Amino acid sequence: MTTNATTGTLYIVSAPSGAGKTSLVKALIEAQEQIRVSVSHTTRAMRPGEVDGVNYHFVAREAFIEMLERDEFLEHAEVFGNLYGTSQRWLEQTLKEGYDLILEIDWQGAQQVRRLMPLAKSIFILPPTQEALRQRLDNRGQDSDEIIDGRMREAVSEMSHYVEYDYLVINDDFKVALDDLKAIFRANQLLQNPQQQRHADLLSQLLA
Ligand code: 5GP
Repeated sequence: MTTNATTGTLYIVSAPSGAGKTSLVKALIEAQEQIRVSVSHTTRAMRPGEVDGVNYHFVAREAFIEMLERDEFLEHAEVFGNLYGTSQRWLEQTLKEGYDLILEIDWQGAQQVRRLMPLAKSIFILPPTQEALRQRLDNRGQDSDEIIDGRMREAVSEMSHYVEYDYLVINDDFKVALDDLKAIFRANQLLQNPQQQRHADLLSQLLA
């Protein structure tokens, strides 16, 4: 693990279920060593193909409540009947090591994080149309119609919070959306303050 003296940037990425957020974030971090993604705790049941400790830390409701009582979450929210939360300790350590960090969380969690960490950048990913979203939810083939209808309603309610975010990315063409995400991260890495810390030696040499 490499470390540097610069504190990383915290990014919040939200999207309605089915907008392609997880695939986009996965593709983004494959090419970028300095970005880490937080693994949330959740009380929801594991879906086929998911791995404990990779997609989520899957915990029982009682265990989640105990963590909550011990103040271990930076933020938490109930989404579609299940509890989700971001563990604080790992997050602080990772940012201190200089990594940029992505939280894939819903709008409720995003509001809590913005209050606590006002320098966090937030990105909202939108589907190109409502029909495309429903189709993507259907294509998963893992949930019943009733669950999909419920998730569509949740999606519309989630999308109504887009105005609270710094950046909007439309995921119509995956590659375009990925390039848009990369541009956001790159532009933030090039901001004067982190660049100044990264290139302190160069700057003092240039100004000597
Ligand atoms: P899913 O169960 O489909 O993976 O996620 C459902 C929703 O929960 C998504 O909107 C996702 O962003 C959100 N979510 C996942 N982890 C967290 C978390 O740690 N905190 C909050 N607030 N929301 C989360």
